[in-house]
Amino acid sequence: MSDVRNVIIIGSGPAGYTAAVYSARAELKPLVFEGSVTAGGALMNTTDVENFPGFPDGIMGPDLMDNLRKQAERFGAELTADDVVEVDLEANPKVVKTHTDTYYAKSIILAMGSGYRELGLTNEKRLSGHGVSWCATCDGFFFRNKDIVVVGGGDTAMEEAIFLTRFARMVTVVHRRDELRASKIMQERAFANEKIRFVWDSEVVDVLGEDKVTSVKLRNLKSGEECDLAVDGLFIAIGHDPRTDLVKGQIDLDDEGYIKVASPTTETNIAGVFAAGDVVDHTYRQAITAAGTGCAASLDSERWLASNE
Ligand code: FAD
Repeated sequence: MSDVRNVIIIGSGPAGYTAAVYSARAELKPLVFEGSVTAGGALMNTTDVENFPGFPDGIMGPDLMDNLRKQAERFGAELTADDVVEVDLEANPKVVKTHTDTYYAKSIILAMGSGYRELGLTNEKRLSGHGVSWCATCDGFFFRNKDIVVVGGGDTAMEEAIFLTRFARMVTVVHRRDELRASKIMQERAFANEKIRFVWDSEVVDVLGEDKVTSVKLRNLKSGEECDLAVDGLFIAIGHDPRTDLVKGQIDLDDEGYIKVASPTTETNIAGVFAAGDVVDHTYRQAITAAGTGCAASLDSERWLASNE
């Protein structure tokens, strides 16, 4: 058997890199799997991040992640841009496999994040961070006196729409059906808000603009009619998918597929396995909260290793 590592970290967003900084500074020599496609996590897809503490002038998402990565490396974290494709969390030592190699560890930190569901439009990715957003808390501030479309009909969509009225001139909620899925109380709040209007039975079929969003194309699903709506922002609120396929069947997940932890710790139901960031969190979903739980996961694993030596 090759080396048994103290800790393997799976995931390279704010949670994974922060766990790596702490574990490396504790001399645990962590090995971090960053993933082959989106090393750096969700913030690689955005522009300005203005709410991560310590950057009074804001920072670009990819720069923030590059800084975190360098900080982890500086203390000796070993980073590899590979995908973990299989794990055995109950084994002793625990097993982590990529397409080409097998690794062993005493403890594991799961920090795979969650994916925002996309509409699947060609221009959606191109205009991400330039008017297309998945997070009102993150980006609402940029839309003062602007017109915004929110797509979705659930509680999150209503929450986002209501929050955005603090900044926006008008928020148009576009929903595929003629009634909302959101709870009654959220519906009532949204209906009562005079800055929110609804376009029913419709979907966004394109988002237009050269450098930033200037309009969206809507299609009425009953009549097939299409029209352009001039807007500055498109907020997509149709759900998230935690990246838990890797551990499904091995670890306790909640009804929505997020990893369950014994809050306020990051302990999962398997000894020596900890989880942090958006793969656990369907409440806050912020870079700073992911970083915070990444720190906690490192401290939890450090203590667990010490008590199991
Ligand atoms: P992620 O950032 O999702 O990172 C997880 C990463 O782990 C994946 O991307 C992948 O690289 C890797 N990974 C996953 N599975 C595997 C595997 N099997 N093997 C190897 N690697 C794997 N938050 C803010 O606080 N402020 C903002 O301004 C802000 N803006 C945002 C803008 C956009 C467009 C988006 C999408 C999100 C934004 N957020 C913002 C939210 C923030 O990005 C997330 O809350 C945060 O990134 C979650 O961190 P995480 O470490 O849990 O996971």
